[in-house]
Amino acid sequence: MFGRLFNKGKEKNKETSNKNQKSWSKDEAEYIFLHGSQTGGTEMLAKTFFKSLIKEGKKVFMDDLDSYTTYEKATHLIIFTSTYGSGGPPANASDFEDAFEDVEPINPLKFAVVAFGSTSFQDFCQFGVDVDGWLESNTHFERLLPLVKVNNQSDSDFRGWLSLWNRTSNMDTQIELKSSNKRSSKIQEFTILENQEISGDETHLIKLKPTKDVNFQSGDLLSVHSEDGQQPRIYSIAKIGNDILLSVRKHEQGICSVYLCNLSKDDVVSASIEQNKTFHLPVDASSIWMICNGTGLAPFLGMMEENSTSKLNLIWGGRQESSFGLYKPLVDKSIENGLMEKYELALSRTGEKQYVQDVLAQKSDEVSKALDSGSVFMICGSMNMQNAVLEVLDEITNSKLNQPLSFFQDNGQLLKDCY
Ligand SMILES: Cc1cc2nc3c(=O)[nH]c(=O)nc-3n(C[C@H](O)[C@H](O)[C@H](O)COP(=O)(O)OP(=O)(O)OC[C@H]3O[C@@H](n4cnc5c(N)ncnc54)[C@H](O)[C@@H]3O)c2cc1C
Repeated sequence: MFGRLFNKGKEKNKETSNKNQKSWSKDEAEYIFLHGSQTGGTEMLAKTFFKSLIKEGKKVFMDDLDSYTTYEKATHLIIFTSTYGSGGPPANASDFEDAFEDVEPINPLKFAVVAFGSTSFQDFCQFGVDVDGWLESNTHFERLLPLVKVNNQSDSDFRGWLSLWNRTSNMDTQIELKSSNKRSSKIQEFTILENQEISGDETHLIKLKPTKDVNFQSGDLLSVHSEDGQQPRIYSIAKIGNDILLSVRKHEQGICSVYLCNLSKDDVVSASIEQNKTFHLPVDASSIWMICNGTGLAPFLGMMEENSTSKLNLIWGGRQESSFGLYKPLVDKSIENGLMEKYELALSRTGEKQYVQDVLAQKSDEVSKALDSGSVFMICGSMNMQNAVLEVLDEITNSKLNQPLSFFQDNGQLLKDCY
């Protein structure tokens, strides 16, 4: 055990040998960042993330999972790992399980795991799931963020995790995975047409008009530049006619959300549109389940207008019925045009106190039949809601259809855009 403790773990990071950057040893760093990689993809991303933490001024040390040891001043353990073969560890993580059993951490550590994999394998992200479970069941570790699974280096899966990471740790790291897949329009001006507050909910419905011609569709993202020197923030778009409708939650300390929510009619915003192909309305689905909470309803409001063929089911989670008030007329229009029979509200502050995952669990027969017959499930809103929904859907598909949820995801039946 001591051989492992003292021999493993490189003393300084090569990545920080750059003269201008301070490097931290394993015993100086507060953030320990370990990665497990087979083909180098996860390692490359890990290096990018590592550099962005250094840029944020963090004392961080990066190493292979196999080199897991004690860390004198560490407060956080972050792990990015892929899975190899049938649910096993990648090349530089095969000793991690033993090391983890042998090594007793010096300090309590907050942890976060990102699991990389592909839904085309039966054991999608299994090693990451195992690592997360080992940390979860060890009393020295406290969860900082829920486990997130990233399919085929998907930018949108990782973006959701990064968004959670940034606000939990008060950082502003910006990393992209498949940047070649992403197309952004030029920064241009958009005029505010309406800015309505959903009272008691710190949420605004904001309608904007592009001042120049620009192509976009519901599910794309508006990248808003609020102040000089600030990274832009992104918001899910509903296309209503030729206008953009956003649902924005106002965060008390938030830079961009406060900026947007305080705008008045005729004010002008600088922004660009990011195409978000993996979250467009599917063209050939017989039925679509729209699962969302809070502001996550926004892109669906536009998709309801776009839709002319698929039967729609909507389950929305919010605090109370009045939170749904401003959205309701747009949803009712979809019911009037005959492609949606009804919608369900899961209200967390009134009556039965429900969340969207509870509604799905109650409808497990209907959900399994829908997935079995090719329905597409689209999820938009908070990462916590997404994780809870994925867990319920996975239970349903395993118990009723004898398949993991990743089978249906691989089939294109699960689309996600959470933050
Ligand atoms: C793909 C994607 C789509 C998105 N779509 C939407 C959308 O449709 N509507 C929408 O409102 N937002 C959406 N977001 C989130 C949005 O991009 C911003 O992160 C959010 O508005 C906060 O930005 P800010 O500048 O106001 O806060 P920041 O200045 O970034 O954060 C400052 C502080 O505000 C608080 N804060 C920020 N965000 C949260 C949060 N979510 N929960 C609790 N506290 C928080 C924290 O205290 C944080 O430290 C989306 C994000 C992604 C990645």
